[in-house]
Amino acid sequence: MNCNACERPIRRCVCRFVQRVPTPLNILMIQHADERKHAKNTGTLAAKCLDIEIVPSHELTHLNWSAAPNALLFPSIDGVDTVDATELNANTNIWVIDATWRKATRILAEYPELASLPRVTLPASESYWRNRKPKRAGQLATIEAIAKLHECCQYHQISKTLNQVFENFQIALEQYKS
Ligand SMILES: [Zn+2]
Repeated sequence: MNCNACERPIRRCVCRFVQRVPTPLNILMIQHADERKHAKNTGTLAAKCLDIEIVPSHELTHLNWSAAPNALLFPSIDGVDTVDATELNANTNIWVIDATWRKATRILAEYPELASLPRVTLPASESYWRNRKPKRAGQLATIEAIAKLHECCQYHQISKTLNQVFENFQIALEQYKS
């Protein structure tokens, strides 16, 4: 049996970790289908804390990219504009991809409109993920990246809460293993 709210098996329900800190930022989360029910996924948890919308990646074609200023939270590459987190405006749609590195790269290849959006750059930081090791240094769990974004935008309380939620979640994952 699965939880109606987070769709995880009841035993792995993440709802009890949620601490609501609605964000003033305009964040939209693109979630890969494999993440939706993944036991170690942190995107859904972050979305529930912040009260933000999750857009399944297979529904991306229906979106209108030109409707508002858009920015993508993803490492920058040559040839694509970057925007500093401190310059973000409350009206900017900030797109966040909740997927593994490989799948996120595939989503970008599939949607050039998304790949060409100005990229929000975050200062390099180390991941505190203990249970799902990133493939490369500097890759953060989705909830960590979003916490960092808020920290850069001076929303320190939101950042702190998200990091605490992440820590509580990690402790629970470690308990499942033992
Ligand atoms: Zn739940």
